[in-house]
Amino acid sequence: MRYIPAITKLIDEFSRLPGIGRKTAQRLAFYIVDMEPARAHQFAEAILDAKRKVHYCERCFNLTEESLCDICSDPKRDPALMCVVETPRDLIAVENTKEYNGD
Ligand SMILES: [Zn+2]
Repeated sequence: MRYIPAITKLIDEFSRLPGIGRKTAQRLAFYIVDMEPARAHQFAEAILDAKRKVHYCERCFNLTEESLCDICSDPKRDPALMCVVETPRDLIAVENTKEYNGD
């Protein structure tokens, strides 16, 4: 049996996300269909908002909504120290240790 076009489109979009298989994509699509309209709108808006506002820090390539990220614009940080990580997600792990005070 084929899904109606709007469901198929939603399943296809979820399937393109990393780590989401076809079955999970179907489950998520049906979850969205059952959502309250306001909640679905909030979800869609969060995606659009992130795409509109989030970009890379011009100094360190961390994610930010400003030209410099929170770390680069923090005057209490030591700019002589620099920790290099592979992705912004790795940076969160270093920051959560609360042991590092450089840029
Ligand atoms: Zn930065």
